[in-house]
Amino acid sequence: MKKERRRVGIMGGTFDPIHIGHLILGESAWQQFCLEKVLFMPSGNPPHKRVRDGASNWQRVEMVRLAIRSNPHFELSLEEMHEQGYVYTKETLRRLRKQHPDTDYYFILGADSVLTFDTWMGPQEICDQCILTAAVRDSMDTETLDRAILHLREKYHADIRKLESPNLDISSHNIRSWCAEGRSIRYYVPDAVVDYIIDKGIYGEL
Ligand code: ATP
Ligand code: MG
Repeated sequence: MKKERRRVGIMGGTFDPIHIGHLILGESAWQQFCLEKVLFMPSGNPPHKRVRDGASNWQRVEMVRLAIRSNPHFELSLEEMHEQGYVYTKETLRRLRKQHPDTDYYFILGADSVLTFDTWMGPQEICDQCILTAAVRDSMDTETLDRAILHLREKYHADIRKLESPNLDISSHNIRSWCAEGRSIRYYVPDAVVDYIIDKGIYGEL
């Protein structure tokens, strides 16, 4: 009898800090694609973005750990936590697939990442190695997202699927600036993460 392939989600990000947008996205993907688990994979040295006055690598990891600890099908992955050198998704996928040849990976993307996907390192290799799942974000109209999905399908023969998830108007950037202004971030990030941010004074005022 043919053995069914395992299905694992990857939620990559800077997570500076992790917020409910990331968590709800991961949970929606788990539900919709019947995933065994979702790996939350903080990026150690993201080539495309560096936040000044942000959290340290290990503070970001700790915040992810605190945020996902109550969810049995969420898992922290340190696969991309390298202090030195760039970390590229195509290489992470290659490594994971070599270690777990019985697994299909579902790479979870918010709409902004879908629109900039062309600029990532090795988009063809990424598309060859995983299933992409795309969710709306920032009230982007569905036609724009649908067009971007079609573009990736045509250009890279990507297996890209629409992820049905509510539009949550929230970003780490907002959270950082609210902290700096001394505004409350409660309920935008899990309580344990709020406490950690305040305790360590990570983003200023708060
Ligand atoms: P920043 O404001 O620093 O860019 P961010 O909130 O965009 O942070 P990232 O760590 O950059 O968070 O995002 C990781 C992934 O999560 C990306 O694919 C992004 O599109 C997705 N994502 C983040 N926030 C949301 C949201 N509110 N709704 C849908 N997708 C989201
Ligand atoms: Mg972002």
